Amino acid sequence: MKLYELTIKKAHELLKSREISSQELTRTVLDRITEVEEKVGAYITTASDSAMREAMLADESIAKGNMSELTGIPIAVKDLICTKGMRTTCASKILYNFIPPYDATVISKLKKAGAVIVGKLNMDEFAMGSSTENSGIKITRNPWDLTRIPGGSSGGSAAAVAADMCIGSLGSDTGGSIRQPASHCGVVGMKPTYGRVSRFGLVAFASSLDQIGPITKDVTDCAILAGVISGYDLSDSTSVPRDVPDYLSSLTHGMDSVIIGVPKEYDSTEGLDPEVSAAVKNARNVLENLGAKCVDVSLPHTEYAVPAYYVIAPSEASSNLARFDGVKYGFRDKEAKELLEMYKNTRSKGFGSEVKRRIIIGTYCLSAGYYDAYYKKASQVRTLITEDFRKAFEICDVIISPVAPTPAFKIGEKVDDPLTMYLSDIFTLSANLAGIPGISVPCGFSSGGLPIGLQLLGRHFGEEALLKTAYNFEQATEFHKKKPNI
Ligand code: GLN
Repeated sequence: MKLYELTIKKAHELLKSREISSQELTRTVLDRITEVEEKVGAYITTASDSAMREAMLADESIAKGNMSELTGIPIAVKDLICTKGMRTTCASKILYNFIPPYDATVISKLKKAGAVIVGKLNMDEFAMGSSTENSGIKITRNPWDLTRIPGGSSGGSAAAVAADMCIGSLGSDTGGSIRQPASHCGVVGMKPTYGRVSRFGLVAFASSLDQIGPITKDVTDCAILAGVISGYDLSDSTSVPRDVPDYLSSLTHGMDSVIIGVPKEYDSTEGLDPEVSAAVKNARNVLENLGAKCVDVSLPHTEYAVPAYYVIAPSEASSNLARFDGVKYGFRDKEAKELLEMYKNTRSKGFGSEVKRRIIIGTYCLSAGYYDAYYKKASQVRTLITEDFRKAFEICDVIISPVAPTPAFKIGEKVDDPLTMYLSDIFTLSANLAGIPGISVPCGFSSGGLPIGLQLLGRHFGEEALLKTAYNFEQATEFHKKKPNI
């Protein structure tokens, strides 16, 4: 086994027993990036020099017997999480040269834990998209099939983990952007409960939906990384003052005490690929064989999740993105003769077409005459969706569903059809609207050899039940062991 193929847990054991050093491990990861980046296109920025320096410091700290589970482990980060002194572009031309003067809270936590930050990962511009094709910087390809998308918007984060170009990564999820790419790339991705992880230093897309989370090679690593980044933060008023459990200790064998809810609406979803449906049914059988009890649940407002989300998210985005006007950050148009023209030119040239589409939709939905008809209505639907989950979780602990309706599609297949692209979020959006946690874990392959993910949803702050279920499923199956041939 190559060192870059290690999981966080295994690498930690080898670092601890001094069989390897962080400098060796980091070097092999950086070499691996050089080897496959041209094919995969996962990184916007690689930070070789600072990574090697951090690895040296990690080795010194390990030598003194001072280490956490992440000390010396190479981690990469979606490029909308602020890193002090390291370019943070949001994959947008408007922030192409933006170097933040501070670290996001999750980055401070990673650094405190001794992690080595190897670079910043590609994404859809400002996290708007489901394929990473909306990046204003480059295309990322799915390591399982280079003609296909890796999913999005955290496509770089998932592709990098799948192709062993980092040991683990961070993504962000506003409507599925951690779970959907994790599913398409055959890795594990978790969106924590809204408020579990600080959003301070995460460039905001839709503030009431955004959440940072881990993308990893297996469930154990997911538990480790989630434990490090979670917790209350004074700098984020929406983070929740609640103790962070030891997620690793929730990874116990046995599903006897877990009741799994199977939503009756999901199987009849239009556009659900039969192979995805079969893989999820098989997953249900595996969990039942492990001792879990399955019950039918109903989430009757599911069909309204896509329209509600595509009013709420663009509305919040139109407000959040108003700050990019050429004055304070990044790109400024130099040809304009007066201020208004400068704003207009900066935004016209700096933003890509999907971002502009969302700003226009959002501004429209929030405008005086339409607010009640659109934004208010969507917020009411959001409450109904949250209620659906509350009722379902009265009779079950975990809900299972597909992550995406189809395996990864071809690059270019949906770029000219935003509505079809939006429909690929059908299974993931509701969790963000309700604020509940969700995880994607590999559960099969299509006949064409593409990974399929299983989604598990839980109660608010129910990450432990998700991790436990995902862990038992993973231990009983082989899907996570297969690697792309790249
Ligand atoms: N695909 C969804 C969108 O385009 C979700 C994106 C996300 O979770 N950041 O808005």
